[in-house]
Amino acid sequence: MADARIFLSPPDVGDVERKLLLQAFDSNWVAPVGPDLDAFEEQIKDQLGVRHAVALSSGTAALHLALTAAGVRRGDTVLVPSFTFAATANAVMYLGARPVFLDSTRESWNVDPELVAEELRRRARKGRLPRVVIAVDMYGQTADYDPLMEACDRYGVPLIEDAAEALGADYRGRAAGSFGLAGILSFNGNKIMTTGGGGMLVTDDDRVAAQTRHLSTQAREKEEHYEHRRVGYNYRLSNLLAAVGRGQLQRLGDMIAARRETNRYYRAALSDLSGISFMPVAGYGRPNHWLTCLLVDANQFGASRDDILATLRERNIEGRPTWKPLHLQPMFRDFPMRGGDTCADLFDRGLCLPSGSALTQQDRERVVQAVRAAAEQGA
Ligand SMILES: *Cc1c(COP(=O)(O)O)cnc(C)c1O
Repeated sequence: MADARIFLSPPDVGDVERKLLLQAFDSNWVAPVGPDLDAFEEQIKDQLGVRHAVALSSGTAALHLALTAAGVRRGDTVLVPSFTFAATANAVMYLGARPVFLDSTRESWNVDPELVAEELRRRARKGRLPRVVIAVDMYGQTADYDPLMEACDRYGVPLIEDAAEALGADYRGRAAGSFGLAGILSFNGNKIMTTGGGGMLVTDDDRVAAQTRHLSTQAREKEEHYEHRRVGYNYRLSNLLAAVGRGQLQRLGDMIAARRETNRYYRAALSDLSGISFMPVAGYGRPNHWLTCLLVDANQFGASRDDILATLRERNIEGRPTWKPLHLQPMFRDFPMRGGDTCADLFDRGLCLPSGSALTQQDRERVVQAVRAAAEQGA
């Protein structure tokens, strides 16, 4: 019999989530309001140490409303890391704004704060500052917020933190998601925890929170009849899904511990191979290790990234190349890119290994054996 498939980052849900979901169902709170939604928001607020949390239908919806709250309008410029998932820049496009893409640093794979400062300086001189800077916490490691916030504060440009991949990570002891004007989280099925699809906007800003709540529920005014002064959205998370999220939150600590253990194991078990280097852990915080990623030097390793992917595929294991930089995507071709070719190299040689929190030790060993086999086949 063929070996069971090992997925990259599948949902990890069980009895706790099932029980809470059925309780919510039986309570008849089958709507985007209800006690589970309120409790889920409260728990995320506590977890992150922020004043407000608004549960939404996706991380992308949260980005859309965060950018809206920051005042992004048609024709505005928004600085966006190139090395990220398309959703980050799609939200900019929804508002008719223009992304300017920035390269990553090798030390963290996150946006280079010096490039951000340089671009802000350049644009300030021309009187064309961007409306917003977006930072992304890549694969569960935060961006470098001290220099980023310093640059943004100097020019009075708000920062929005895309922490879709980073729930549970920290930067100098402060929770991922809590930086800048607003942060966003994702509860998509492949993320560190899931509601089967969902997201959250978190902020300390009362106005941002109130406006996000308002716009996410069709911008209905407080009248008995249906009164609307703005275009709204149907972006609220359902109470049923919030119940699943409450269950996941109970297990979040264990799920993160499992992902960290996977990262530790892969590093140790592949440490004798030359030509493989894992995504660096920057000294400024603790990642959640959502996905464990590495770079392959084909000459030293004896096989390329794509050879490893092929070997994984043969053995019914799901691997993935790292994110294809957005400035190389057909749909973003016409937008400017600042910096060198670091993120292009991270894409050419980068590989994400199976990292789900339900991975067994046997699964981990199968992954390591497959990577080793790729080197031996190539040699
Ligand atoms: C997953 C992800 C998103 C989008 O979240 P959804 O909940 O899937 O809409 C945004 N940004 C990054 C970096 C992501 O990884």
